[in-house]
Amino acid sequence: ERMITTELKEEDVAIETGLRPRSLNDYIGQDKTKEKFRIFIEAAKSRKESLDHVLLYGPPGLGKTTLSSIIANEMNVNIRITSGPAIERPGDLAAILTNLSENDVLFIDEIHRLNRSVEEILYPAMEDYALDIIIGKGPSARSVRLDLNKFTLIGATTRAGLLTSPLRDRFGVISRLELYNTNQLTKIIKRSAKILQIPIEETAAVEIASRSRGTPRIANRLLKRVRDYAQVRADGIIDSNTVSEALYLFEIDALGLDNIDKKMILSMIENFNGGPVGLDTLSASTGEEKNTIEDVYEPYLMQIGFISRTPRGRVVMKKAYEHFHLPYQDQSEE
Ligand code: ADP
Repeated sequence: ERMITTELKEEDVAIETGLRPRSLNDYIGQDKTKEKFRIFIEAAKSRKESLDHVLLYGPPGLGKTTLSSIIANEMNVNIRITSGPAIERPGDLAAILTNLSENDVLFIDEIHRLNRSVEEILYPAMEDYALDIIIGKGPSARSVRLDLNKFTLIGATTRAGLLTSPLRDRFGVISRLELYNTNQLTKIIKRSAKILQIPIEETAAVEIASRSRGTPRIANRLLKRVRDYAQVRADGIIDSNTVSEALYLFEIDALGLDNIDKKMILSMIENFNGGPVGLDTLSASTGEEKNTIEDVYEPYLMQIGFISRTPRGRVVMKKAYEHFHLPYQDQSEE
């Protein structure tokens, strides 16, 4: 199991619950998205209407669930949190929808994983706030329309393109969450440390931030692991030395790369002369699913300029050669 995975792990649950920001003001970064929602929320509230349906997309751990809870908070309504795979049958979704109060938020994580028959229930629900129920079987079957309370659906997914177009078209607002920069992650880590009463020096917070792969979930997890290390080995105070020692032990390098990233990049360089390499090959060399590489690990490697996507496959960039102290030869010079 990779420590830098963005998947929600058992160990994250307790810590994340306490650290979730509750208002837009506490939600760090994502400035454009926040500004947009401030306006939508204000407008919907003054019209006493529910907010338009929202699709949030971007890699896991960037704050989609958190932002949705904040939106519900700021709208003064309840939020019901579920996920695509958890809703197995149309009846499950119908039960959830009929239990929503006026203007409530329904958050569906991994909404691209809803099955077809469930997704079809959502169309009239999103469009007309109605459920079409079939009563009876065979020739005597008839369809009955049931009115629902108005509600806001917030769907979350890694890539907007994973949704079917009829579903995607029914969202009024589509917003992409971006990877966070070191400055924003430092703020998140300092805020978390304060809440958890962990003494941490500024330079140490920056050090953890620069190894968090643009992802608040990883930042909070690393903070917690470094705290454990500091308690046992360093009198509990976290300075940048402690961070370096702890993350050296956990095999996470200065840019937040672990051994699997390293193995993947080195294999691209050594076996394929830096690429282009297809996704299948990367999947075979890392043991990670293709989708996971594409949606979770690659965005960060692209952000730091280590690899780039070309129509013929992935290519290792000069920066990665430098990071691993390998001689770089510009392909175009050959
Ligand atoms: P996602 O739903 O995109 O997978 P989450 O909303 O569960 O991500 O966020 C993971 C954790 O990261 C949260 O529990 C929260 O503590 C922290 N977090 C996410 N976004 C922010 C932010 N903008 N500011 C502060 N903390 C954040």
